[in-house]
Amino acid sequence: MRGESRKRVLITGGAGFLGSHLCENLLEAGQDVLCVDNLFTGTKDNIAHLLDNPRFEFMRHDVTFPLYVEVDHIYNLACPASPIHYQFDPVQTTKTSVHGAINMLGLAKRVNAKIMQASTSEVYGDPEMHPQSESYWGHVNTIGPRACYDEGKRCAETLFFDYYRQYQLKIKVVRIFNTYGPKMHPADGRVVSNFIVQALKNEPITIYGDGSQTRSFCYVSDLTTAFISAMESDDSFVGPVNIGNPTEFTIKELAELVIELTSSKSELIRLPLPEDDPTQRCPDIGLAKKELDWAPKVQLEQGLEKTIEWFRKTL
Ligand code: NAD
Ligand code: UDP
Repeated sequence: MRGESRKRVLITGGAGFLGSHLCENLLEAGQDVLCVDNLFTGTKDNIAHLLDNPRFEFMRHDVTFPLYVEVDHIYNLACPASPIHYQFDPVQTTKTSVHGAINMLGLAKRVNAKIMQASTSEVYGDPEMHPQSESYWGHVNTIGPRACYDEGKRCAETLFFDYYRQYQLKIKVVRIFNTYGPKMHPADGRVVSNFIVQALKNEPITIYGDGSQTRSFCYVSDLTTAFISAMESDDSFVGPVNIGNPTEFTIKELAELVIELTSSKSELIRLPLPEDDPTQRCPDIGLAKKELDWAPKVQLEQGLEKTIEWFRKTL
């Protein structure tokens, strides 16, 4: 017999960076985990150490196609997340967010599961409000190169709230701000992985633009703790809720910190700023504090040290 608290949990995108950490955390918490992934940006290496666990199962599947399984909770993370990956095949990116959401919401409705959407700070686009709170509707270019991701995620949020209102589905929408940590794809082009890899190889650190644009970086363990708290929160709380670290850094400051922590000989070089690159990003996490009693614990320097250690071993 299964205990009341033992859930069958589906994680789409479970072989990716965040998904694989979440698989580990939920197995540690005693749940049964079904990891579904098409391995577009994720890899079996991220979950290889879990394959022998009888409570863990991996299924290679693309969420743009329907899925028929019996589960209690669904964390919908499937979607390439870094600009170079989501711009590689933008049509598939939009399909993954939109058709993926429709398929996972349909599954949740059929089996009466609770479902969480991994949304993003990108729904705010290049924000005119600072810091960004959940009440801000955003400033997104609908036809730019980031739109396949931003608008796909915005449409997924719309679908989640329509399933909630129309079918009383139990939903949670979490807006993730830049998160980093071990198991980031070394070639995903994201700023933290790029700078660490470049610094460890003593290669030039590529600053796009003048490096004055800001981001706020959340360590992965803080993020997965928030995911699980949100999933376990009262059904009346559906979000959207910002999850991120509200300490803001310029990209140049990040580069200098990475050089210092790696004792690298790398120099900073300037490259053109990508189109529609947001100039400022920082979450207002008041709602997460109030509703989930959550705040990040890991400061940037501490998280970078752990991440650098992992990249040193991996490279
Ligand atoms: P990731 O690329 O490492 O993980 C995404 C996973 O989804 C990969 O394993 C990939 O193979 C899988 N995937 C992609 N398309 C799929 C499809 N059609 N069917 C099945 N699997 C598919 O990225 P991540 O950083 O772990 O991001 C996970 C989720 O969190 C994404 O939805 C992303 O949009 C969201 N998010 C992440 C961040 C961040 O800073 N890491 C910020 C905002 C939002
Ligand atoms: N960036 C940079 N150099 C790099 C990679 C990224 O200066 O090698 C900048 C990028 O232009 C953006 C910020 O770092 O302003 C964060 O980029 P990332 O792709 O990590 O995430 P985003 O928040 O833009 O989705």
